[in-house]
Amino acid sequence: MAEAIPDRLVVMTFDDGPKSQFTFAAPLLKSCGFNATFYITEGLRFREDKERYMTWEEVAALDADGFEIGNHTRRHRNVVTQSAEELREDIEHIDRRFAEHGITEARTFCYPGYNHCSEAVAVVKARGFRFARRGTEPEYEYDEDGGRGPAYDPQVHDPLLVPTTGASGPHWGFDDFQWALDEARDGRVAVLTFHGVPDLDHAWVNTAPDDFERYVGHLRDNDFTVVALRDLDRYVG
Ligand SMILES: [Zn+2]
Repeated sequence: MAEAIPDRLVVMTFDDGPKSQFTFAAPLLKSCGFNATFYITEGLRFREDKERYMTWEEVAALDADGFEIGNHTRRHRNVVTQSAEELREDIEHIDRRFAEHGITEARTFCYPGYNHCSEAVAVVKARGFRFARRGTEPEYEYDEDGGRGPAYDPQVHDPLLVPTTGASGPHWGFDDFQWALDEARDGRVAVLTFHGVPDLDHAWVNTAPDDFERYVGHLRDNDFTVVALRDLDRYVG
């Protein structure tokens, strides 16, 4: 029997594995007793640039610290353009990496680049993921620089298509953050997506550290519960 979703429930997610998530965001969250999900890919420049991206040892340390580590595919390809077999292989590759590094098997998935399609959902479902996070579309058009999206409502949304309620970037700020938090009521959950804090490689998903501190302080001071995506298991039948 699933528990009722409380008001002020926020899921915090981080994509792509920038180093600043490990050095800055995670310690700040931990100091407030908050959890979060970190979606890891070996795409982008994760393999080449270990100054700007986490090492596997750092990812494993986040896992050991109690944060959730999720699967974001091997190559960060647009799943709409991949065959089911290619996507399956890219997911399995990251599953193997997690096993090699002693990281807890991923229970949740994140579609790269905010793109999804029903064929990809079928692959994600066959793998047995409990939840998968998408972007703000189709309900809210996305302009590539951050924006608003729907709150997650288990009565409405497939757990393998959990929407992003707030996608941090140059076009998403404190007003949008507060708007997303206002949606966290009446059985709905606000799902926030961040990339690097800061994001040195991708300006269109950058979050300034000062802004992030303000977001986390607001969540802490206003009694929000901040969890990882896998933690919604208890609320979703
Ligand atoms: Zn990504």
